[in-house]
Amino acid sequence: MRAFQLMAHGTPGQFQLRELPEPHPGPHEVVVQVAACGLNRLDLWLEEAGLPISLKLPRTPGGEIAGRVAEVGSEVRDWKPGEAVAIQSNLFCGECEFCRRGEESLCLRGEILGVQRDGGFAEKVLVPARSLVRLPGELAFETSAALTLAGSTAMHMLTNRASVRAEDWVLVIGGASGVGSAAIQIAKQLGATVISTGSTDAKRALAAKLGAEFVVDSTRPDWPAEVRKLTSKRGVDLVVEHVGGEVLRQCFECLARAGTIVTCGATAGREVPLNLWPMFVKQQRLVGSYGRNRSAIHATLEWAAAGRLKSVIDSVLPLEQTQTAFTKLRSRNVLGKVLIKPVAAETIAD
Ligand SMILES: [Zn+2]
Repeated sequence: MRAFQLMAHGTPGQFQLRELPEPHPGPHEVVVQVAACGLNRLDLWLEEAGLPISLKLPRTPGGEIAGRVAEVGSEVRDWKPGEAVAIQSNLFCGECEFCRRGEESLCLRGEILGVQRDGGFAEKVLVPARSLVRLPGELAFETSAALTLAGSTAMHMLTNRASVRAEDWVLVIGGASGVGSAAIQIAKQLGATVISTGSTDAKRALAAKLGAEFVVDSTRPDWPAEVRKLTSKRGVDLVVEHVGGEVLRQCFECLARAGTIVTCGATAGREVPLNLWPMFVKQQRLVGSYGRNRSAIHATLEWAAAGRLKSVIDSVLPLEQTQTAFTKLRSRNVLGKVLIKPVAAETIAD
C-alpha cells in the first residue's frame, strides 16, 4: 500500500510517498481503508519535531481519519469489514483507572495516532478496534474527517472541561481554525452569545458566518479592550483558547468575574506569565483540555449528522499532494480543513 511518510524532521521536513507492506490486524486490531484524513497543526508539530515526546522515523502522519473497515482481527466481535467508521486519534488502553470511567483523554498509556503510531496519510491504517467510532446515518467521510479531531476537541472543551449556560458570553480565539470554527457553532447551539477573533477579513467573515455575533481583529494590539467594550466592560464568561503565549495572557483581560479560560494548545508559547492577584480576586479558572473522550466524538458526529455542526473544508487533495497540504497549512493561508483522500471515492464506495 502507498503511504506518505516523514523521513526526517525539519521545516519543511523530508517526506516520501512510499510503497509499504499491507498491514494485517493482530487479534484486537482492525485495518481501515482511509477514505479521508484531515491535516492538523499536530502534523506540523510532528514535522518540525516540536512535540515534547520522543519520536521514531519514518512515520506516517495524519490522525483525523474516516474510512471503511477492511479487515478485523481474530478476537474482534463488534466490527465487520465494510462498516463506515471514524477513528479516535488519542489511542487509549481501555483498562486504566481513567479509561474505566470513560475519561480516555486522561489514559495513562495513551498514544497519538499519526505521531506515535502510523496514521492516515496512507491507503490503510492499522488501529486497535476499541478506537473505532461508527459513523452515524449517511455522514460523509469528508465531513467526518473534517470534524473528528478538531471538532471533538472543541466539544470536549465546551461540554466536558467547561460548560456553557444559555446567555453566557463566550470568546472563541481564532474562529476560522479547526477548533475555533467548531467552538463557535457549539457555543451558539448551547445558547451563548459568541465573540470571536480573526487575523484576516476572510477569517473574520467565516467566524461571523458560523454564528459569531461579534468578531474582533486579532492583529490589533488592543483587541482585548474591544472585547471588554462589547460586553460593557463586564468581560466574557468563557474563553476557548488554543494559541497560548501572549494570547493566553490577553485572554485574562477579557475574562469576567468567575469566568473560565479553557485551553488546549500553545503554538505561540508554552510559558506564560500570570498575574495571580486579579485571578483569585475575580475567582477565575484556567482549565487544561487534551484530546477528547469517546462521548465527545459520538456527540460531534451525531451533531454533524443532524446538521447542528457543519464542517468547513478548504481543499481536498490526493495522497501525492500531501506535502502541498503541509505547505498550505504552515502558510496559515487556509480557510477550514485541508483533507487528503488516499483512496479514490469509487474504490471505497462499499
Ligand atoms: Zn487507559
